[in-house]
Amino acid sequence: MTIVIAIDGPSGTGKSTVARGVAAALSLPVLDTGAMYRAVTLAALEAEVPLDDAEACAAIARQCVVTLEDGGVTLLDGRDVHAEIRGPVVTAAVSIVAAHPPVREVLVARQRAWVAEHGGGVVEGRDIGTVVFPDATVKVYLVAADEERARRRQRDELAAARNVAVEEVKAALDRRDAIDSGRTVSPLRPADDAIVIDTTHLDVDTVVADVVARVRAAEASR
Ligand code: C5P
Repeated sequence: MTIVIAIDGPSGTGKSTVARGVAAALSLPVLDTGAMYRAVTLAALEAEVPLDDAEACAAIARQCVVTLEDGGVTLLDGRDVHAEIRGPVVTAAVSIVAAHPPVREVLVARQRAWVAEHGGGVVEGRDIGTVVFPDATVKVYLVAADEERARRRQRDELAAARNVAVEEVKAALDRRDAIDSGRTVSPLRPADDAIVIDTTHLDVDTVVADVVARVRAAEASR
C-alpha cells in the first residue's frame, strides 16, 4: 500500500522540520510543495508578468521546470534557486500567485505525479490533506501560537543573514495567513479528519514520534 502523509498548517508551525523527521523515520521521500509555489513565483517575477494575472502566472507555471532535490535544493529550469525563493521578495509575493486557481491546477497535478513516481511520501503544504491527497494515510495539521511562529521565522531570517525585527516578521506572516486562509480555492484549513497538533511547547522529536506512531497504527489497521 502506498503511504502518503499530509502535513499542513501555516508558516512557522514546524511543517518542514516535522516532515523531514517523519520522512527519515519511515524512509520516505519528502515533497515541499511551498517550494514549488515559491519557484513559480520567482519565475513570474523574473518574467515581469503582473502577479494578479492568473492566466499569465499559470502560463509561467506550465513552462517552468521545478526540480526538488534531496536536501532541500530547488532548481528552476536547472538553476539552483533554493536561497532566492526564501528571500523577502518571493515571500511577499508567493501567496498572491498561489491563490490563482489555474496555477494551483498545474502544481497540484505535478504534486500527484511526484508522489505516484516516488511510490508515496511525506507531503507538506497548505491543502495537501484537503485537496491534493484527500485519501492520505495520515493527515496532520500543525498550529502554534503567533508569537512563537514569528520567533521561529525570525530565527530562519537571521540564519540567512537577514536581521528583521520580530514585529516585521509577524506582520508578514499575518498578511500571508490572511491571503492563504481567505482564498476561494483550496484555502488553508485542516481536513475534517486531520490530527491537529499544537507545536508551541513541543520539541520536534515528540511531534515526529507522535506522527510516526499514528502512521504505524493506520498501516496496522488496513
Ligand atoms: O510553506 P511555504 O511557506 O514555503 O509556502 C509558501 C506559500 O506557498 C504559502 O504561504 C502559500 O501561499 C503557498 N502554498 C500553497 N499551497 C501549498 C503550499 C504552499 O498555497 N500546498
